[in-house]
Amino acid sequence: MEPKQVRVGSSVVGGGPFSVWAGPCSVESVAQFLTTATEVKSQGGAGLRGGIFKLRTNPQAFQGLGREAFAIVQQVKAETGLPFISEITDPRQVGDLCDVVDAFQVGSRNMYNYALLKELGGLRKPVLLKRGLSALFKEWLLAADYLVQGGNENVILCERGIRTFETATRNTFDINAIALAKQETPFPVLADPSHGTGMASLVPSVALAAAAAGADGLLIEIHPDPEKALSDGYQSLNFKEFGALMGQLRKLLHALGRTLA
Ligand code: PEP
Ligand code: MN
Repeated sequence: MEPKQVRVGSSVVGGGPFSVWAGPCSVESVAQFLTTATEVKSQGGAGLRGGIFKLRTNPQAFQGLGREAFAIVQQVKAETGLPFISEITDPRQVGDLCDVVDAFQVGSRNMYNYALLKELGGLRKPVLLKRGLSALFKEWLLAADYLVQGGNENVILCERGIRTFETATRNTFDINAIALAKQETPFPVLADPSHGTGMASLVPSVALAAAAAGADGLLIEIHPDPEKALSDGYQSLNFKEFGALMGQLRKLLHALGRTLA
């Protein structure tokens, strides 16, 4: 099967080179997002991630800046030139978010939201489709089919860990799914070791394992001061840790005969 390449802004995901998409779980302020984006760029990242609309398990938890983040993101994109991926949580956000994101992220909680998938299937903007928390591999691919059948073939799959009997880590990262998705589908596959493990200390190991298993890239949470992050700080790498991971990644990719996008 011929692997697809998906263009996201000025970057390309899939088809050989390995692309790293990094940024905070949530966009919090100009200072936080700009310093993070500058770090992603200087480390050779392909693009930025950052939550604007957050789907939180606890309704009391920070729900994201929402539309307030649009101006921050536009400023940071203009200053760094990096493309940007963010989650869409409701079909009613399509119009506004379209101008801000280079790819829509469909989060784990919304993988089964077929109304949302049908809406995005009608567009041509790329969709990063995360695997549902408890989704079978087959259900994940059928969710991708909703996009393709609507006419949007710009699909990127993202394994972000699943729920199993094991509670020692936030989720169980399914490395099999990376290799299987590469074998069974034409879509680029990103790995999200941040949500996959839920522990910053485990993120580098799982990130490297995913690269070795054939992933086309990473979606990774980083923050200038993880302890102060408004969401997912415990699984976010600080800049030093991110830089160390990028160094190891370059060595691994070299050994595998691959390059960073
Ligand atoms: C995220 O990427 O910040 C996120 C909420 O991810 P998931 O949908 O995988 O939980
Ligand atoms: Mn997060």
